[in-house]
Amino acid sequence: MSSRNQNRPPHSNSNKKVGAEEVVKDKRSSIEIEAEKLEKQGVAGRARAPLSAMVNNTTSDSDGTDLNNIEFTKEDIESLLNEKMKKGNPYNNKIKVDQMVDLIKRLKLCVRWCVHENEKLQSAVESAVKKSCDSEIEMKNKTEELNDTISDMRETISFLEEINAKEKSEKLVAIDDNLNLQQCNSSLQSDLKSANEAYRRLEMEKAIIVESLNDTRDLNKELQDRLKSLKDSQNESIKHKETLANELTCLREELKKIVDDRDRVQGRLNAVIEERENYIKFKYETYSKLDKLAIKTEALEETCSSQKAKITILEQKLRVEREKLEMADLSAVETRAMSEEHKRIIRELQDRLADKEIQVVEGEKLRKKLHNTVLELKGNIRVFCRVRPLLREDRFETNMVVSYPTSIDMLDRGIELVQNAGQKQLFTFDKVFSHEASQHDVFTEISQLVQSALDGYKVCIFAYGQTGSGKTYTMMGRPDAPDLKGMIPLSLEQIFQTSQSLKDQGWNFKMQASMLEIYNETIKDLLSSNRSSGFDQTRADNSVHGKQYTIRHDKNGNTHVLDLTIVDVSSPNEISSLLEKAAQIRSMGRTQMNEQSSRSHFVVTLRMCGINENTEQQVQGVLNLIDLAGSERLSKSGATGDRLKEAQAINQSLSSLSNVIFALAKKEEHIPFRDSKLTHLLQPCLEGDSKTLMFVNISPDQSSIDESLCSLRFAARVNAVKLGFHGVRPRHTQGAMSPALARTEKY
Ligand code: ADP
Ligand code: MG
Repeated sequence: MSSRNQNRPPHSNSNKKVGAEEVVKDKRSSIEIEAEKLEKQGVAGRARAPLSAMVNNTTSDSDGTDLNNIEFTKEDIESLLNEKMKKGNPYNNKIKVDQMVDLIKRLKLCVRWCVHENEKLQSAVESAVKKSCDSEIEMKNKTEELNDTISDMRETISFLEEINAKEKSEKLVAIDDNLNLQQCNSSLQSDLKSANEAYRRLEMEKAIIVESLNDTRDLNKELQDRLKSLKDSQNESIKHKETLANELTCLREELKKIVDDRDRVQGRLNAVIEERENYIKFKYETYSKLDKLAIKTEALEETCSSQKAKITILEQKLRVEREKLEMADLSAVETRAMSEEHKRIIRELQDRLADKEIQVVEGEKLRKKLHNTVLELKGNIRVFCRVRPLLREDRFETNMVVSYPTSIDMLDRGIELVQNAGQKQLFTFDKVFSHEASQHDVFTEISQLVQSALDGYKVCIFAYGQTGSGKTYTMMGRPDAPDLKGMIPLSLEQIFQTSQSLKDQGWNFKMQASMLEIYNETIKDLLSSNRSSGFDQTRADNSVHGKQYTIRHDKNGNTHVLDLTIVDVSSPNEISSLLEKAAQIRSMGRTQMNEQSSRSHFVVTLRMCGINENTEQQVQGVLNLIDLAGSERLSKSGATGDRLKEAQAINQSLSSLSNVIFALAKKEEHIPFRDSKLTHLLQPCLEGDSKTLMFVNISPDQSSIDESLCSLRFAARVNAVKLGFHGVRPRHTQGAMSPALARTEKY
C-alpha cells in the first residue's frame, strides 16, 4: 500500500477539486444515457421535452401536481405505455381525443415523474460520489497522517534502538517492541491495501451504478454499505491507530520508567562505587591499624605473660593469705566467743562489783557507826601506852622494869611496872604496845581515829612521856626509812590516800598544814620562810619578829593562830617535805640548843575541808599531832636558870593539860584552857565531840623507873576520864555529813 502511495503523484487540493468535477460530469453523462435508454424503452414515438428542459424541471408540475405524492412502478409505466385506445365509435373523434388527452396527461405525468426520479437519483449519485470523494480525500489524509505517524514511529524506533544499544538488556525488549510495531505497520499497510482494493471495487461499482440506472437503489445501498464498511474499517483503523498511539504512550511510559530505573540503578551504582572507595580507604586504614594493633598485641602479650607469672605468684600468696585469713577467722570466732565470755564475766564482775560497792558503802556506814560506838564506849580520850626497847645507852641494864600481863582481859591492855622490891604495879590502858611493837602495829590502832578527821571530827593525838622515852620516835619516827615512819607521816599519808579515794564519790578535800613549836609558852612557826638558817633564842623570840601568834577560836570551833604560816598541801610528798623542813629546824635546835627540842611541844596541824560536788555537802576536820616536851619532873632534871625556867614552863603546860582534862571529866563550868598555850591551842580538840588519843611513852630502863611510874599514873588517871560527850554528833557545817555517811546516803 505504502509503495503504491509512494508511486502515485501527490494530490493537491486543486487536483482534488478537478477530480470531483470530472466525476460529476461522468455521472451526468451516464444519467443522460440512462434516460435515453428509458425513452427508447417506454416513450418511443412520443414527443418528448428536450432533455435540458426535463433536467431543469422542478419537483412541482406546471399544473400544480405534487410529484412527491405519486409513485409509478415499472408495471405501471409499462401498462401505461402499452395502453391502447378503447373501442367505440371509430368516428367519434371527440372521445378519441379525450382518451388521447388523458393518456397524454398520464404519460406526461409519468414522464415528469421519471424525470423527477432521475433527477433525484442523479442528485443521490452525485451526493454519493461526493461522499465517496470526500471519503477518499479523508482516507488519503488519514493515510498521510498514518504515514506521518509511521515516520514518527520510525524515528521513535530509531531513538529506541539507540537507547537499546546502550542498554543491552533492555534492547531486546525494545527490539521486540519494534518488531511488534513493524507488524502493526505491515497490518496497517495490508489494511490500506484492502482499502485501496475496496476503493477500486467502489469505482467498479460506481461504474456499474452508472451503467445500471435501474438498479440505482440497490447500487446506492450497496454503495452505502460499502461506504459503511469503509467507515467501519476506517474507524477500526482509527481505533487501531489510537490503540497503537496508546501502546506508544505506554511504551514511552515504560521507557521513561526504564530510564528512571536506569538512573536509579546508576545512582545506586554510584553510591556503591563511592561506598566501595570508602571501604577501600577504610580497609587500608584498618590494615595500618591492624599492624599497629599487632605490635601492641605483641607487647601486651609479653606484658600479659609477665602479669600471668605475677598473678600466679599473687594467687599463691593469696591462697596462703586466705588460709591465714581462715585461720584468723577461726581464731577471731574463738576470740569473739572468748570476748563474749569475757564480757559476760565482766558484766558479772561489774554486777558483783556494784554489789560489793554497795556492801562496802554499807560496811563503811557500819564501820563508821561501830567506830563511833567504839570510840564513845572507850571514851573520847583514850590512852595508848608504848614501851620503847632498851637502847645501847641502856646496855648496862639487862632487865626491863616493865612486864606485860598475859591474862586474857589484860592482853595488850595491861602493863606492869616492876619496882625494886619486885613489886609489880599494874596499869591498864586502851592499848599497850610492848617494846617489840612496830610503827605499823601502832598506826593500825590509830588509823581509824585518823580517819575520823576526814569524817569531820577534830582529832588530837599527842605523845606524853619523859625525855628519851620514844615520843619523837613514835610521832615522827625516821622518815627516811619507810618501815620506821612515825604516826605523823603515816597519818598524813593515810589522810591523802583516803581523800583521793573519796574523789570517786565526788569529794574534794582542801588540805592546809601548819607546824609550830611551843617553847617556854611561846609559839614558834616552823614553816615560816623568814626563819633564818640559824636558830638562836633571841631571834626566835616572837617580839623580835613582831609576831605574837595569837590564838583565836571562832564560833565554829576553828582555831586560828595569827601570823602562823599555813601551807596548802595536795600530796603526801609536799607534807613530807614540810615535815622534813620542820624536823630539820628542830634537829638543828636540838644540836645547837642542847636538847632544846625535848623541852618544846611540837604541834603539827592538818586542817581538811571537804566538799562533795554531787551533794554540795561540806565537812571540816582537824588533825593535831603533837610531840610534847619531856614530862620529867623538875627535881630530876636538876635544872637551874634557863633550864629551870624551861622546866617550869613545861610542867605548867603539862599540868594545865591535865587540869583541863580533869576539869572536862568533872564537867566543871570553868575549864582552864587558857592556863597554857598548849591547852589554849588544843581547846577545840579537847572539848565537845573531839577525839583525843594520848600516847604515854615509857622507858624500860631502871633509871627511868620513877618517871615511868609518874607517867603511868598520870596516864592512868587520864585513861580513867571519860570526857562524857557521848551521842554528840560531829560538828559539821550546816548539816554536813561525814564522807562515810555521805557515801552511805548516796546509796
Ligand atoms: P623522846 O622524844 O621521848 O625524848 P626519842 O624518841 O628521842 O625520845 O627516843 C630516844 C631514843 O630511843 C632514840 O634514839 C630512839 O631512836 C629510841 N627509841 C625510842 N622508841 C623506840 C622504839 N620503839 N624502838 C626503837 N628505838 C626507839
Ligand atoms: Mg622527842
